Amino acid sequence: MSTIYAVGICVTFHGPSHWGEQYNSCTGKHQSPININSLDVKKVNLPPLVFNGFDIAPLQTNLTNNGHTVAVTVKSDHIPTISGGPLHGVYQYSQLHFHWGDNDTFGSEDMIDNHIFPMELHVVFFKRDYRNAKTALDHSDGLTVLAFFYEISSEDNPRYEEFVQLLGNVTNSHKTATFADPPSLKELIAQDLLHYYTYNGSLTTPPCSEVVTWIDFKEPIMLSHAQIEAFRALEDEEGHPLTHNFRPIQPLGDRVVLFNTDEIIKDVDLGVDVPPSEVENSNRVEEEVRKPSGSKQGKKGKDSGVARGTPVASWVLLGLASMALLTASRY
Ligand SMILES: [Zn+2]
Repeated sequence: MSTIYAVGICVTFHGPSHWGEQYNSCTGKHQSPININSLDVKKVNLPPLVFNGFDIAPLQTNLTNNGHTVAVTVKSDHIPTISGGPLHGVYQYSQLHFHWGDNDTFGSEDMIDNHIFPMELHVVFFKRDYRNAKTALDHSDGLTVLAFFYEISSEDNPRYEEFVQLLGNVTNSHKTATFADPPSLKELIAQDLLHYYTYNGSLTTPPCSEVVTWIDFKEPIMLSHAQIEAFRALEDEEGHPLTHNFRPIQPLGDRVVLFNTDEIIKDVDLGVDVPPSEVENSNRVEEEVRKPSGSKQGKKGKDSGVARGTPVASWVLLGLASMALLTASRY
């Protein structure tokens, strides 16, 4: 069964400061985008995100200039889904689109430590239980958006070659172009999918519904200046350059941003078992034990939590430490 998903989430009305006049939810307390302060996040180790169908090239992929962004929709027998991480249930791919500015110094919506990136990718998914992206807006857990930031590289990104070429075919609004070689989602996103910020927020355009679980990946995607310039050559419905299609940041309010990492497990192990001073001492003891024997075990003594003791006790503890290392290396 093939299905075409072409739900436009982003709609442009009057300037963002006027949205609240027409849409109550645009003045809500959990709006997006936000500035994420990396020193003020809660480190967590959530269950793994499960990416399904991200490596399958769709049967057909279309690129459309809808007058306020460029959106990618697919026709496929294997519509990508995402689950796990902070999500409850399975979310199905709807569309992806971009936000950018008229030069490299701004363009992203969310900011990290007040840093604005030149462009941001939003890959929009709706909760499968709610059937489509439109009905999902009626539910607080209706959507999840995978957000990726872009940074400028000196070289063109070959994975975006056809994408950038096709932008030249959709300069005018409401033009659509079709990929000769449809890319899989995996080809368009970053590689490190473990480290991400996540928080509950809203659509960044009216009706600003507070139904989005945002997942902002830390690793940026690299594009050359020329490749990002190709986005800035698009035109809106009035034939003006299509730039500056991002919403200003909104107050964080009472929300706590989570940062997913695997480092927290090692931190907890160390924190619970051995204070830092003990760890330093233990390294020294381990060195002393290791020298005469030539054993290669326990090289990462900093993580092992070996305590001080007599040489015999050290051997026993070294064995335990090695077991702990083996356990830790699974993460
Ligand atoms: Zn967006």
